[in-house]
Amino acid sequence: MSARVLVVDDILPNVKLLEAKLSSEYYEVLTAMNGEEALRKVAEESPDIVLLDVMMPGMDGFEVCVKIKENAESAHIPVVMVTALTDVQDKVRGLESGADDFLSKPINDTALMARVRSLVRLKMSTDEWRIRENTANQLGVVDSSANAMTEPSENAHILIIEDKDFELRKMEETLETDHHTIMGAENGAEAMELVGSHDFDLVIVSLNLEGEDGLRLCSHLKSNERTRAVPLVMIGGEDDMDRIAHGLEIGAHDYLLRPIERSELLARTRTQIRRKRFQERLRATYEISLSMALTDSLTGLYNRRYLEVHLEKLLEKNKTSKKSLAVLMIDIDHFKPVNDTHGHKAGDEALKIFAERLKDNLRSFDLVARIGGEEFVAILPDVSERRTYMVAERLRRAIGETPFDVGAEAGPLTITTSIGGTIIDFEDHTVLEVLERADKALYEAKEGGRNCVVFEGVGKLNPEDHKVSERKTVE
Ligand code: GH3
Ligand code: MG
Ligand code: MG
Repeated sequence: MSARVLVVDDILPNVKLLEAKLSSEYYEVLTAMNGEEALRKVAEESPDIVLLDVMMPGMDGFEVCVKIKENAESAHIPVVMVTALTDVQDKVRGLESGADDFLSKPINDTALMARVRSLVRLKMSTDEWRIRENTANQLGVVDSSANAMTEPSENAHILIIEDKDFELRKMEETLETDHHTIMGAENGAEAMELVGSHDFDLVIVSLNLEGEDGLRLCSHLKSNERTRAVPLVMIGGEDDMDRIAHGLEIGAHDYLLRPIERSELLARTRTQIRRKRFQERLRATYEISLSMALTDSLTGLYNRRYLEVHLEKLLEKNKTSKKSLAVLMIDIDHFKPVNDTHGHKAGDEALKIFAERLKDNLRSFDLVARIGGEEFVAILPDVSERRTYMVAERLRRAIGETPFDVGAEAGPLTITTSIGGTIIDFEDHTVLEVLERADKALYEAKEGGRNCVVFEGVGKLNPEDHKVSERKTVE
């Protein structure tokens, strides 16, 4: 993994030492000798991780960290504070200012490298969602100033896997300060049962369970569908450092060393919970924006963009499957007067009802899209000629025969539609050409008096010939 690391320290030998260690692991190393330079490099070079010294003249590491995490452009970049300070107050202050970890000098190389690798990996997966969020941003549906630090860190569901009762109770008590709901499990079997029936925001795993390998448990949790994305925090002793490093490799997010310091436990769980909530939100907004980009918000039908992509695929597929495909262009008759007489709201209501009726009279695998104001397209894959005519006539009747209750003062409105259709054989066709052909038939239907169906090469259908009222599910 070729990631870029920014090393910030005011003492040159420290910089050189870290640079040498990281370069030998094939990281690209950038350096800065003070807070201002660090912030400038973060902005200009957008590193994948920052290793930040705390004690520097002028702007200290805490301040730099807060600035990185406050800025929406850089908040996603992981920061590891590296310091000679060993006081737990400093550690907590670092974590509270948004640092992802706080390592004390002299640095344990295994811990440092494992940490850097795991944070870089984590960032890469967040980056993926950030890119998508960016698209969503351009569509104007996401608040771009949001970052993990602004997420709430309380009221989470936490599972603690610890068989030492005293330790479990101590953690429970501590975490209750943040109003979390906590469940305890004494062993892996119990834990797996709980994760099967509950959703957790965080799992804390002891690496010192009696007769059980906590690391194996971590790996189970990572491969389980329900817990794959749930942050894992390991608890171990100083001499478990190699196993902790291994745990970070397989996807655990963080660890705490015994004896557990209460404020550190709080700070680290808050970070993990915020991060998880932020990722969930990115994903949710992405999904919403995706559906917004492909569907029409008034009727819930697919939009033109989706139709075009989908039709192209269908045309491609039809060349090999050799089945015919029908395209119907459907346009409401004299819709402008509906708006003019009864108002735009009544018009919108009519469009919704119109869309519902189209859907109700098509099969689930037919596609219907709203491609313009009062213009719709239905695509019927794999249909016979006879059935296509029958469906088109059925759609026309479903609209015209029952007045639309749009809440207009004048009562339900009679609305009719014209339909132009074409049946596409399995030769080479472009989306544009196919839509144009259906459109031409539609034009003829309008010319021919409206409230009728015209097929390319066939002309206006005689309603009497296509009256079979089959259910839509019957072919
Ligand atoms: P024709 O029978 O020739 O299709 O006549 P028409 O009046 O239906 O067609 P025209 O294209 O002249 O007008 C379409 C009208 O559809 C214009 C506009 O008032 C209305 N319209 C388009 N989009 C919307 C919409 O989203 N909501 C509402 N309420 N009206 C819409
Ligand atoms: Mg119209
Ligand atoms: Mg029109």
